[in-house]
Amino acid sequence: MIVLVINAGSSSLKYQLCDTATAQVLAKGSAARIAESGASFSHVAGERAFTLLDPIPSHRDAMALMIEALLDPEHGALTGVEQVDAVGHRAVHGADVFVEPAHITPEVIDKLEACVPLAPLHNPANILGIREAQRVLPGVPHVAVFDTAFHATIPRHAYLYALPLELSASNRIRKYGYHGTSCRYVVERAAEMLGKPVESLKMIVCHLGNGASITAVDGGRSVETSLGFGTMSGLMMGTRAGDLDPAIIFHLHRELGMSLESIESMLYHESGLLGVSGRSRDMGAILQGVEAGDERCQLALEMFVHRLRSYIGAYIAVLGGADTLVFTAGIGENSETVRRLACANLEALGIRLDEGANAAIHGTGGRISAEDSPMTVLVVPTDEERSIALQTEAVVQGTTMLTIAP
Ligand code: ADP
Repeated sequence: MIVLVINAGSSSLKYQLCDTATAQVLAKGSAARIAESGASFSHVAGERAFTLLDPIPSHRDAMALMIEALLDPEHGALTGVEQVDAVGHRAVHGADVFVEPAHITPEVIDKLEACVPLAPLHNPANILGIREAQRVLPGVPHVAVFDTAFHATIPRHAYLYALPLELSASNRIRKYGYHGTSCRYVVERAAEMLGKPVESLKMIVCHLGNGASITAVDGGRSVETSLGFGTMSGLMMGTRAGDLDPAIIFHLHRELGMSLESIESMLYHESGLLGVSGRSRDMGAILQGVEAGDERCQLALEMFVHRLRSYIGAYIAVLGGADTLVFTAGIGENSETVRRLACANLEALGIRLDEGANAAIHGTGGRISAEDSPMTVLVVPTDEERSIALQTEAVVQGTTMLTIAP
């Protein structure tokens, strides 16, 4: 099936044309800085690629550029839009409404609109992307794949915050979790790599990108995850602080007179690796800083690793013992150093790395634990677009991707 995967952000549009049968990416591209100065559009199909630096006034214009590029006789991958069998949309927040991917109908869009207060940054862009894509590709099924859906299996005692219960219930305040599309894909790939049914495995998945989260997965079902109601909690991230005592927010507000908006912005955009190092949000740059003897980069790395290890230990307890630890996303797939430090001296918890394998692994991923390690440690490259394409295909064909019933 030829699936066009669309990821619409507030000022960006990313797309990927996938053939689910061959796992081939036929074309991909992105529009950046939509309705801002310095807009750009780039497209790649096989060896052929181009970039435009013209203004892109709206998502509608970005969508038109995408279709034009896909149909372009020289750079395209299609001879007609009717070759697209389905469109899969990355949807960030399905709240407690969407626990599986959904075939998009007007009713689904209404329900997505109702979720906007829970994801004010992401859902409006997703809805706009869906509407504009339906306009340019009207004759094909459109499917929304939710980043929160994989975590719908987290039990109530884990997803609730210890607030007055009535307040939580009437305002839908609970842990929703994110990175679920990536996590679902990685869990299934890890089970394939191990040659074991996913139902038999107790896994901890470390998704370490600019945004980072860690998830405990019992028999293929998410049972605990570090991102919560919003996308701020848990691990230290590129520019987000991760866990912090909420008392700090009240202190900054009362004593420094900082507005709630400026505290929110600081916690989202000026904290994490960037805030501590004062240098970069990128782990690659932090590690270069460490090599060069930069003390703040060293501190940022130590804090990142400390938080990660604390969560690995906690989730082994949540699972009552785990058999598989998985590293994925930009840092998890590429940083031998972060993986080595995260796993150091954890023999007591059953984790022993093969340092040679850890240093050598790249590309397709693989096992990095020692032969005699009780827990298997894997590097598994994530592929959110492929996951969305496969889930879209399953919805269109009326099958379900869920290996485990919710
Ligand atoms: P996003 O959450 O934006 O999808 P990615 O999954 O692409 O992010 O991860 C980006 C992170 O991965 C950045 O911190 C980047 O520095 C880090 N990264 C990528 N390659 C390497 C590498 N070789 N060594 C260390 N960190 C890396």
